[in-house]
Amino acid sequence: MPELPDVESFKRVLATNALGKTIERVVVSDRRILGELTAAAFMRRLQGNKLVAARRHGKHLLASIDRGGWLTLHFGMTGALQFVPEPEKEPPFTRVRLDFAADGHLAYTNKRMIGRVGLAEDAADFIAAEKLGPDAFDPHFDFDAFKAAMHGGKRDVKSVLMDQEVVAGIGNIYSDEILFQARLDPAAPAGMLSWSQLKKLHAAMRDVLKTAVARGAGSEQFIERMPEGALLPQRKKGGHCPRCGSPLKIFKIGGRTAYCCPRCQNC
Ligand SMILES: [Zn+2]
Repeated sequence: MPELPDVESFKRVLATNALGKTIERVVVSDRRILGELTAAAFMRRLQGNKLVAARRHGKHLLASIDRGGWLTLHFGMTGALQFVPEPEKEPPFTRVRLDFAADGHLAYTNKRMIGRVGLAEDAADFIAAEKLGPDAFDPHFDFDAFKAAMHGGKRDVKSVLMDQEVVAGIGNIYSDEILFQARLDPAAPAGMLSWSQLKKLHAAMRDVLKTAVARGAGSEQFIERMPEGALLPQRKKGGHCPRCGSPLKIFKIGGRTAYCCPRCQNC
């Protein structure tokens, strides 16, 4: 499921291959992905125009359009963005395609159709309407801001980390990795964490996401490129703690499946 590091890599795909190119043709293969927006309105806004800048907020990718407004992309559970140089090739489950006059096309794929492709007039208004909290990489979201966001909550720390209104970008997979690196029990109430536990958690959040971006999250061989000591490659049935070798505990929390080491995280 695409989380901050994956969407960051989609942003790079867009920035490297699509910016400044005239969009010759827009193909909407499944208009359900547009929600209430009509395919005609979507095409009208993009056809003949250019994407000129890309930005990411949490799990959302936005690209500004030269004649005004923004293209917005959300990837849900199975979404991805690819640049395809050959005009005749189309990846499976392509829902929206932007064909460039110069070469190739940008393909938004989404097998399970959870996610959204849309338009927004203003990026800040869009982020506010989606009720997104600060992006996990936002320099203003420093330790003091993080501590304040966690403060007093009775909810378990995993659910709080995954709450896009608290901090945008973290989902089920990376919350497990962050909590493992901070050696914290995913079920611990966020508001009960000590100053030093919060300090570790904040540092782990930044480190884990930064490492995942640097190692190419979202690509096929990504798992093999994770650093030694990462939980992610073991995050499966029968997985073992990369640190102490204990069998991982798998349990449901807030409707999601959590993986943790009973020995290292006291879970
Ligand atoms: Zn362990």
